[in-house]
Amino acid sequence: MAKAWMKAISGLFLILSLFVVPSGIQQAFAVGNGPNYNGNETIKKERVKNYEEMVSFLEHVTSRSDLLELETIGQSVMGRDLFLVTFGTNPDNPTIVFLTQQHGNEEMVTEGALNVIKNLSTNSRQVRELADSVNVLFVPRLNPDGAEADVLFELEDYVGGGLSTRTNANGVDLNRDHTDLTQPETRALHENVLQKYDIDYLIDFHHQGTSQAIDGRYVSGSMLYPTNSSVTPEVVEGSKQLGKVVYDAVEARGFGLIGRYNGGTANTIARNGLASTYGFSTLLFEMRGMTDHSREEAVLGQKSNGYLIKQAEIAMTAAMEAIADGSILEADTSFWDELPLQRPIGEEEGE
Ligand SMILES: [Zn+2]
Repeated sequence: MAKAWMKAISGLFLILSLFVVPSGIQQAFAVGNGPNYNGNETIKKERVKNYEEMVSFLEHVTSRSDLLELETIGQSVMGRDLFLVTFGTNPDNPTIVFLTQQHGNEEMVTEGALNVIKNLSTNSRQVRELADSVNVLFVPRLNPDGAEADVLFELEDYVGGGLSTRTNANGVDLNRDHTDLTQPETRALHENVLQKYDIDYLIDFHHQGTSQAIDGRYVSGSMLYPTNSSVTPEVVEGSKQLGKVVYDAVEARGFGLIGRYNGGTANTIARNGLASTYGFSTLLFEMRGMTDHSREEAVLGQKSNGYLIKQAEIAMTAAMEAIADGSILEADTSFWDELPLQRPIGEEEGE
């Protein structure tokens, strides 16, 4: 990773607090207070853009800025276009990828990505300065068929009636397909993004169940760096630095409480496989709760999930800024040694 951008970075002006988010109503829903389903909320997707709405949104906001480009990288099993949004195109600058919604029922993270893309479409001086220092690639909602519940199997006994599901239309978990690449969604990501760009960092955004906790309190999210032994120490260290940047930004908020994700070492998942195959740093970031699921304890209530959208937005913004100003290279990774391992109350499913 000894790239020219690292040497050039010392003189860069710090671009801090580009997209300061007013603290307010989200913080009324503090950690430990939900949003749980609890068997008494109606499960809806009102906060989430459906596929057509997402496409219209992406077309609109990217057309407002010459710094943003929208391109199609492939099609899902059911024929929906898959998208890449690029911000910044300087090959001398570092590049980060924000990947969301490999799992169709993990949706707030995509809303966060759409908000960040919108923020980057404003043509402000700060945005232009950011584009001078970092390239950002967004792959929002890699699994649109799962998100639309347009799948080739039945969603029996889902709490919300089958609003969305984890796998793609073929019933394949895309985040177990990063070595075999059997599915059109994973192939599109690898062939038209990961193999095409000179990438330094990637954050893979997910949602986990609602019952993970540390210190007796529900977490707002969890994180982990690559843990496969084939990933080089330099790549792992860069991943841990990326985690530090995200951790500090989220924990600074009233709702933020992050645990260590208890993840495996398989290269079939993005966190390990992409770091191993392509040699860039990766971070898994899991948010709390899913849109719909067959198990009540996995499902997010409707009331306060706005803070989860904000959490994704904060993580992306902090990562972009820390890479742009070079401060990520100074991030102290020792906090990982103290980060409590989250523990579920009941069974969980994640990554
Ligand atoms: Zn997931």
